[in-house]
Amino acid sequence: MAGKIVEGRRVTTDQTLTPDFCIIGSGAAGGVCALKLAEAGFDVLVLEEGPNIPKEQGHGGPSHVRKMLNEREGDMYKLLYQEGATRLTKNGGIKVLQGRCLGGGTAVNWSACLPPRKETLHEWQKRGLPFTRENLDPYLREVVNYLPIVRNDKYNTSARMFIKGCDHLGIPHDNLPNNTHKCRECGSCGVGCPYDRKMSGFVKWLPDAVAAGASVYTDTKVDKLIWRGDRVSEVQARFLDEKTRPTKRKLTVRPAKGVLLAAGSIGTPGVLLRSKLDAGKRVGKFTHIHPVTICIGRYPQRTFPAYGVPDNMWSPKFGDGPTGYLIETGSFFPVLNASATLQHGEALHKLMRDYYPAGAIMYAHHTTGFDEREEYGTVELDDYGEPELDYKLAKANVRSMQESLEVMSKIHFAAGATSVFHLRNPPLEVTPTSGLDELKKIDFAESQRASVFTVHVMGGCQMNPNDERRACVGTDFRLRGMRNVWVVDASVFPTGLGANPQVTIYALALWASREICGQHGKPFTFRHQEGGVWPWPGY
Ligand SMILES: Cc1cc2nc3c(=O)[nH]c(=O)nc-3n(C[C@H](O)[C@H](O)[C@H](O)COP(=O)(O)OP(=O)(O)OC[C@H]3O[C@@H](n4cnc5c(N)ncnc54)[C@H](O)[C@@H]3O)c2cc1C
Repeated sequence: MAGKIVEGRRVTTDQTLTPDFCIIGSGAAGGVCALKLAEAGFDVLVLEEGPNIPKEQGHGGPSHVRKMLNEREGDMYKLLYQEGATRLTKNGGIKVLQGRCLGGGTAVNWSACLPPRKETLHEWQKRGLPFTRENLDPYLREVVNYLPIVRNDKYNTSARMFIKGCDHLGIPHDNLPNNTHKCRECGSCGVGCPYDRKMSGFVKWLPDAVAAGASVYTDTKVDKLIWRGDRVSEVQARFLDEKTRPTKRKLTVRPAKGVLLAAGSIGTPGVLLRSKLDAGKRVGKFTHIHPVTICIGRYPQRTFPAYGVPDNMWSPKFGDGPTGYLIETGSFFPVLNASATLQHGEALHKLMRDYYPAGAIMYAHHTTGFDEREEYGTVELDDYGEPELDYKLAKANVRSMQESLEVMSKIHFAAGATSVFHLRNPPLEVTPTSGLDELKKIDFAESQRASVFTVHVMGGCQMNPNDERRACVGTDFRLRGMRNVWVVDASVFPTGLGANPQVTIYALALWASREICGQHGKPFTFRHQEGGVWPWPGY
């Protein structure tokens, strides 16, 4: 029998539920586990603190099928992102963008799909993790064919400028596969695709999970887990209203078989820390991000940079090594970028007037987390009991961030840009003949607040069996010391990934689901091993 989606904001009484499994979070990992455990015949309940995104006719003609997603940045960040897209690291130095809605990050991400770097998998094997390129193959195939992942070669302005600049400089570049299908090129991926053309969690994993019997409660925030010895007995949650305020109504869940944590790499440690379930002080430690440097070029012609597939062109040239970086193209989201300039008044007006109509944008995602002497990030609870990330950029990363800014600037100039703008406080404008040397002086210190951002948060509950200090989750995905608690999201990564993470999160969540089915004597079935076109030649 099909399950249901219940909107917590409409619940008027306290409730108690007794599923087999309670999954906390409906993002990349939560959606996969909900589907596979429901398919295996378990009674599954997903709790999601963000809102439902129901299917209903919207403003854009018959194909606009998610009315709530109105494509306006100002409304959508507040609705779909953690802390209304204002989440910062503790010292304000890095902006942290994470989804907070049905589908989590998959609802708002830019759809780029890369497999895990082989180099990262080798490092993880050295640390005792079981994943190899070979044994991950069926999991990756399942993801590729189910979503599906495709090579969409409709390039937006930023991608076209990137290709031109790279060709001029002899820098190799390639199509970056993604999970869009018949994309309308509206450029709204980052504020939720209202046309169901991006295969996010609320389009694929979650509706299929509900069809297989899972139930999902949205606007339902998990406060804590009640546990004794090695077992959790209860999940305590509160229903939220449409303004995300807690209502008086509570949800109590007593799962017969256990709890899966899929609340993301800040949310999952948050729930565990509030529950005083910290695996011997290992929860929330060694959290990793891919810090992103941004480079906006100004061109002589109008470019309409907010439209098109945001992220389907990249260069692998600089991606190797422990502090390598991937340069990818993006969409110039006007509100997001205007706020990142840290300017106001006439200065902001001039910048946006000069750059927005004629801009093109590139990002570099930097690999972190490989140097075992560095601590990187720590998640702790703030004064209100909410999780907060304290993150220190490693010196080696700062050097590669300075380098990526220089490389991206040169690509822009080779493509014909007349100047390049760097989101720094105070801002920095570089031309082909002046200012490039200044880039090496940017130290990304706290005083330059939020000139760096990240959309990839990983680690904090590491699977790291060879290192006693960091062994927080076992290779069976169980939280250390607990028999019925599994961590299934990006929190388990022992290092940064060095690639856009959603595909790896999906693959590991499939692996975790198979593990959990096996532990409970139920079959796990791959259903999509054939049929698609492998999108990563040579991988
Ligand atoms: C703007 C943006 C662009 C991105 N672009 C890409 C891209 O192009 N390619 C790519 O591979 N990756 C991209 N990512 C990253 C990718 O989407 C994330 O890495 C991925 O979604 C993380 O999966 P997760 O399961 O760990 O957590 P999430 O997907 O973040 O899901 C966690 C969910 O748990 C919920 N939650 C948290 N705490 C609680 C609680 N206490 N109670 C109930 N629910 C809770 C949250 O609301 C959230 O919905 C992007 C992310 C963002 C934000």
